Amino acid sequence: MNQSVGKIHEVVKWPAPVLAKRGEEVTVFDAKLKKLVEEMFESMYAAQGIGLAAPQINISKRITVIDCSFKKNPDEKVILINPEIIERKGKQIEEEGCLSLPEIREKVSRAAWVKVRAQDVNGDSIEVEGEELLARAMQHEIDHLDGILFIDRLSRLKRDLIIRKIKKLQKNGEW
Ligand SMILES: [Zn+2]
Repeated sequence: MNQSVGKIHEVVKWPAPVLAKRGEEVTVFDAKLKKLVEEMFESMYAAQGIGLAAPQINISKRITVIDCSFKKNPDEKVILINPEIIERKGKQIEEEGCLSLPEIREKVSRAAWVKVRAQDVNGDSIEVEGEELLARAMQHEIDHLDGILFIDRLSRLKRDLIIRKIKKLQKNGEW
């Protein structure tokens, strides 16, 4: 029996307007928020992702979940509410993808290490440090909360090429 009770939310794709908006601060830390966070993990796993931000399920709030182990290690589940990057070091350039831009992958320059201050589901202040993939995921997801997608971090030329490709897919009903 599948014991999962959370609702699976559909991930919205570019150019959904919610993806370009700054998410609202979370001010109420109640049971509803805890349920939403659980649903975000479920929705992320269902979509085969390692990170999901609330705007990607059409909820314009500053909430993101990350699991770089993809269900293998519960200790790697990260919940960031109202996060902000307070320190960054170094540089990494790796290929990145996004559930809101299926099939699109490009190399993106990010900090190699970041320290993030956020709140947990109870509203308590937390700090999360991460390098490599976790650092990349946190930067990518926090960008979502500011209405920024990874294609916005590419050169104008690369971004335009990707958008042209997506428009072609849209035209063919493949997006
Ligand atoms: Zn994304």
